[in-house]
Amino acid sequence: MNDFLIVGGGVIGMMMARTLSDSGADVTIVDKNELCRESSWAGGGIVSPLYPWRYRAEITALASWSQGFYPKLAQELLAETGIDPEFRPGGLLMLRVADEEDALAWAEKHHRPLTRVGKDFIYQTETNIVPDKEQAIWMPEVGSIRNPRLGKALKRSLELRDNVRILEGVEVKGIREMDGHAIGVETANSVLSAGKVIVTSGAWSGQVLKGILPDLPVQPVRGQMLVYKAEPGLVDRVVMLDGRYVIPRNDGRILVGSTLEYAGFDKQTTEEAKADLMASAESILPALKDLAVEHHWCGLRPGSPDGVPFIGEVPGLKKLYINAGHFRNGLVLAPAATQLLCNQLLGQEPIIDPEPYLPEKRLQEADDGVMI
Ligand SMILES: Cc1cc2nc3c(=O)[nH]c(=O)nc-3n(C[C@H](O)[C@H](O)[C@H](O)COP(=O)(O)OP(=O)(O)OC[C@H]3O[C@@H](n4cnc5c(N)ncnc54)[C@H](O)[C@@H]3O)c2cc1C
Repeated sequence: MNDFLIVGGGVIGMMMARTLSDSGADVTIVDKNELCRESSWAGGGIVSPLYPWRYRAEITALASWSQGFYPKLAQELLAETGIDPEFRPGGLLMLRVADEEDALAWAEKHHRPLTRVGKDFIYQTETNIVPDKEQAIWMPEVGSIRNPRLGKALKRSLELRDNVRILEGVEVKGIREMDGHAIGVETANSVLSAGKVIVTSGAWSGQVLKGILPDLPVQPVRGQMLVYKAEPGLVDRVVMLDGRYVIPRNDGRILVGSTLEYAGFDKQTTEEAKADLMASAESILPALKDLAVEHHWCGLRPGSPDGVPFIGEVPGLKKLYINAGHFRNGLVLAPAATQLLCNQLLGQEPIIDPEPYLPEKRLQEADDGVMI
């Protein structure tokens, strides 16, 4: 029997598996598809919440820890697997921000590097962006990660370990329990036993836990994105305008995102969204109107009411844990969110206060209507 069984191999499940395996535990990670083919693959990879001052302090706490960890993680994964997750520490430039005073106050309170910058700085930093901007908010330490490559590197890292078993194409149908304890999971034709079960099934977490937490407020929120094929240097940093963004990759490709749609588990892309994203892209980088869109895709974010994930033991069933509901910020939150649950599972001192993320507390907040 395994020590830990992880249901869902997105970035959250894979980082959980890697950290638990580092402790010497035997880990099985199960995914209904291939590892990292859902939201963690589809996302943009900005290693910051968008407009981070608009989120609760619980998001800032996780994001700040993770931001310090990502450069080291990317180096470690490259050394271990030969796959470069392409962490780019370029900075984040936010144009036309209505609540600049709130941004500055948040930065001072949380000691985050963030300043207001003027026209000279904007156009010395990014020469090709739309030429009429007088002022912006600048976060020099924000980076981005090429998330599909991060996924490949994490998967390879797990494959290289003797104490990790990867099961792909295996759908978990439910939790197997005995005497108030989780003892494993049920699949179409088998039972997989484990000492502890951890649900990291992203937008599908409510389905996996349907018999146990029927009211878990985690739901799919579709996000569509585009990528343009460009030469390196057209843009070097993540630039945002009116909630939309461009993200440069090392090979010159430029990602544009994203829509926010409540359409259930429908993973169709739409022509309207494509046209809208292209208009947003050109409003930031006018030169994109002469370049071709190479690819258009979407993913299902694990939406939770205020974006604060559920991290900890599931009330009502011992030895069953959840780490889900990271919504728009699962890539930036992943290192801290997974370390925090591993701390609980391994009896370690927590990296930050775990209390605000505990499922029992979060579910109570949902009942009380406190979540926004
Ligand atoms: C368009 C878009 C842009 C984004 N941009 C960013 C960004 O710039 N920065 C950022 O931080 N975040 C971003 N995100 C959010 C981020 O991608 C997600 O929050 C994060 O990937 C969630 O990770 P996860 O591991 O919880 O979920 P997922 O990556 O969705 O993984 C869940 C896994 O569970 C598996 N699974 C589900 N049900 C079962 C079952 N019954 N049995 C077995 N396996 C199962 C699935 O197959 C899947 O592999 C973006 C998301 C989208 C869609």
